[in-house]
Amino acid sequence: MIIMKSDATPTQIKNVIKEVEKYGLRTDVSRGDFRTIIGLIGDERKVSFERLAMLPGVKEARMIETPYKLISKEYAKAAGEKTERIVKVGDIEIGGDEVVFIAGPCAVESKKQLFTIAEGVKKAGAQILRGGIFKPRTSVHSFQGLGGGGEEDAREALSWLREAGDKYGMPVVTEIRGETQVDLVAEYVDIIQIGARNMYDQDLLVSVAKKHKPILYKRHFGAGIEEFLSFTEYMVAEDNKDIILCERGILPLGKGKSYTRYTLDLAAVPVIQKETYLPVIIDPSHAAGRRDLVFSLSCAGVAAGAVGLIVESHNNPAEALVDSQQQITPAELKDLIIACKKIKKAIGPRHNKG
Ligand code: PEP
Ligand code: MN
Repeated sequence: MIIMKSDATPTQIKNVIKEVEKYGLRTDVSRGDFRTIIGLIGDERKVSFERLAMLPGVKEARMIETPYKLISKEYAKAAGEKTERIVKVGDIEIGGDEVVFIAGPCAVESKKQLFTIAEGVKKAGAQILRGGIFKPRTSVHSFQGLGGGGEEDAREALSWLREAGDKYGMPVVTEIRGETQVDLVAEYVDIIQIGARNMYDQDLLVSVAKKHKPILYKRHFGAGIEEFLSFTEYMVAEDNKDIILCERGILPLGKGKSYTRYTLDLAAVPVIQKETYLPVIIDPSHAAGRRDLVFSLSCAGVAAGAVGLIVESHNNPAEALVDSQQQITPAELKDLIIACKKIKKAIGPRHNKG
């Protein structure tokens, strides 16, 4: 990381960038109110920081040890930027004073289904609409989402999602499953979701980040926190800091019956909030895999400091084509939102406790 003097000129900054590039590294330039910070992307061990520190306009040049430096609190602090980033989607602030509720069906099944649910979740108090169109499924024989029917079907489903969001005043989010879907999905949605199974796909991360839209990025169920944050860095290295991190449960332990689909890693929320300025939300639905646990896990997530929740909600959960056991009705969602808002009030604003 190179910290420039507050009176460093644009030519001096350009010169430092050129010197860094000579080592074969890229840069992330963060222009704060008081000074400019140049982050190094690549292997810093090749770099002579003593040499860079001597260049005109440079205040300090040092190595940052963590594998995820661009998203670290340390980096934001050095740049004089806020150590808690708010991701703005329209007039909704993710990471601001209020908990943000994202809700909708696991999968978009029909226009009627989507509009009924959109109306229901909006009335329940949700601010952002979710709906899967390209579904990651274990079996090729299962419903793959309407996107599985080809580009024309995907476009139609995406246009319903857009229309439902516009009608009910909610930004929309859907998952992309592969690089071939990025351009298409980016045309329609406000937030692009990268699902748990794709957390490690660095080419996908880069191509999504290049759309410069907010990204909802889910932790893989087998990933450590350091891995999750290190892969997040791929997107920030493309100059996209509008990333919402999502804890959605890790693989359960031990033999015998698993009572939950995954194990919600609650401690990951405050841990990640201490490490990075990016906001963290919880997905209680996939973590629990059971509708009767969604309320408790949502409350616990907010109590642990999550700035938002993504909850699967369906007007007729029993008939849902995907994840029918874990979807809750809009009426149940309403109770959950009321309870979570009370909890948020009790614990206070998102603090920088790190
Ligand atoms: C989803 O949100 O629709 C989903 C498939 O979640 P995850 O990637 O967390 O399994
Ligand atoms: Mn689902």
